Amino acid sequence: MSKDRILSPESVPGDAEASLRPLSLDDFTGQRQVCENLRVFITAARARGDALDHILLFGPPGLGKTTLAQIVARELGVGFRATSGPIIAKAGDLAALLTNLQPRDVLFIDEIHRLNPAIEEVLYPAMEDFQLDLMIGEGPAARSVRIDLPPFTLVGATTRSGLLTTPLRERFGIPLRLAFYEPEELQLIVSRGARVLGMELTPEGAAEIARRSRGTPRVAGRLLRRVRDFAAVAGRSPVDAFTADAALNRLEVDKIGLDSNDIRYMRCIAENYGGGPVGVETVAAALSEQRDTLEEVIEPYLLQQGLLQRTPRGRMLTANGFRHMGLTPPARPEGAQFDLLDGVEGDGDE
Ligand code: ADP
Repeated sequence: MSKDRILSPESVPGDAEASLRPLSLDDFTGQRQVCENLRVFITAARARGDALDHILLFGPPGLGKTTLAQIVARELGVGFRATSGPIIAKAGDLAALLTNLQPRDVLFIDEIHRLNPAIEEVLYPAMEDFQLDLMIGEGPAARSVRIDLPPFTLVGATTRSGLLTTPLRERFGIPLRLAFYEPEELQLIVSRGARVLGMELTPEGAAEIARRSRGTPRVAGRLLRRVRDFAAVAGRSPVDAFTADAALNRLEVDKIGLDSNDIRYMRCIAENYGGGPVGVETVAAALSEQRDTLEEVIEPYLLQQGLLQRTPRGRMLTANGFRHMGLTPPARPEGAQFDLLDGVEGDGDE
């Protein structure tokens, strides 16, 4: 699957996201509970003059984790530094970041589940006591030094909460889970984006784009730009539902926001494995895809739409999944249903 597919929830060059990023909690649409909680914690920390407790943001890519981390820093009136788990190669890299922070600054670590375990160990005392224990030198001359850090707020983001180690997870005082956005929320985001881009878009046009954006603001922003291009070339303004629909059809985004990669995935399970259950590794091998790509990019939205289910014995296409592809759902034995009810999120490969 190409990384720059139009519906990828991951950032790709050319997205020019900075212009669409909301800058305050008031501007941030959706995730109401998360925003309300943040507002309380930020107000309390400001009143006390303390650093805000560490925050962990979970959720699929493109839902606003980086945006929220920036907003937290802005609302606290402090500096913002960003890095990502796989970039921090040595304990010294982390030490350099931490010792350069000003008191109460926000340090954002994206993909924190991909931190090297040795570096994670260095992070624990930094988070808990604002102290850094570093080894200097090697062999018999090696010695440990302790450095005091300014109090700071770590905002960690992860797309895979299951991959986070328990000690790391427990050091975050404020865990927050982001969910896919409702179509009405995305419609507001699309309309706001159109205003920022100076594009005329009717409410129906915005709704059409919102419905097909996979519950993800990043996808909504990208589809909005593509629709704008089509409309500009076709000389259509304002952009209405008809124009948006025509553009999105050209982009091969279907009525509920699936593209050829999703359909290929669902067809594979339907046609090769009778609708499942089938292990995710098996599907990944059949499609020549990375398991991670399926789990992070394709599956979350299909699960949320009720087209797919995870069972202890693997992935299963739901009756709706079959119907969405114009296929008749197979009659399933009782046992299959039973598996679905026990709530265990296995994948059939372990
Ligand atoms: P993540 O870090 O979760 O992958 P980002 O914070 O980078 O996602 O957001 C991706 C894009 O979506 C950005 O362009 C951002 O402006 C936009 N975005 C995210 N959440 C919202 C929101 N609630 N309202 C408006 N735009 C949003």
